Amino acid sequence: MRILPAASGSGIVFRRTDLDGFEIEATSSNVARVSYATSLMKKGVLISTTEHLLSAFIGLGIDNALVELNNLELPILDGSAQPFVEMIQQAGIRKQRRARKYLRIRRELEMREGNKFIAVYPSKTYSVSYSINFPHPLIGKETFQVELTNGSYLRHIAAARTFGSREDEQAMRNMGLIRGASRENCIVLTRDDIENGPLRFPDEFVRHKVLDLVGDLALLGKQILGNVVADRAGHAMHTALVSRILRDKTLWEEVTFAETPAERETPFRAEAAASSSL
Ligand SMILES: [Zn+2]
Repeated sequence: MRILPAASGSGIVFRRTDLDGFEIEATSSNVARVSYATSLMKKGVLISTTEHLLSAFIGLGIDNALVELNNLELPILDGSAQPFVEMIQQAGIRKQRRARKYLRIRRELEMREGNKFIAVYPSKTYSVSYSINFPHPLIGKETFQVELTNGSYLRHIAAARTFGSREDEQAMRNMGLIRGASRENCIVLTRDDIENGPLRFPDEFVRHKVLDLVGDLALLGKQILGNVVADRAGHAMHTALVSRILRDKTLWEEVTFAETPAERETPFRAEAAASSSL
């Protein structure tokens, strides 16, 4: 995988170098299927597991980038956004001249599905409050609340790893995903413990859910100004929220500010190799 600079206004675009450079924009209209990971599809061409890289872009304030891939799945690396953050920081970040446009939420939207809940409320900044209730002795009920400004994404969210069990691994393989649950690329849960401690944060699980949510909401195509509240949601509900927001133009408006930060891109290329070892 390589990340290349992109012109102002182009957004995040994936390019399959193994398929004649076929391009897929990271937007809600290209969302394909969502279960363990979020996938994009255009004209039958798939890009899988986009959420961690897109999350890193939002956390770093990157608006425009071209992501080249030579297969359908983004590298999972250590299961967090941290390696992406580091490679982008090494490549550097450049301000572009055009003022950034935000999607400002004007009125609330709440969605429920059984005991799952997701909502967005008007706010001057982008903040997230996430709750999970996971039947495992080390997890249980966790809530994490964060305002995604002033580097708090980089300090509190980027390093939180995904988690899974050996059963998930088999299910993912059955779905054709290359990655498995290994000690190198996720927190591996056993029945009442984890295989590869220690945790990076005592509440690493819910922090990773915030990471996923931020990555899925990147499919709005713009940085959002709103307070997102989620309880036991997942990729499917995150992306459903995105398409509901985009469909109803009375929910939001596009704004720029007098002192809006400019759009940003990575000026030099950054590379990461896929790791799918077990
Ligand atoms: Zn994830």
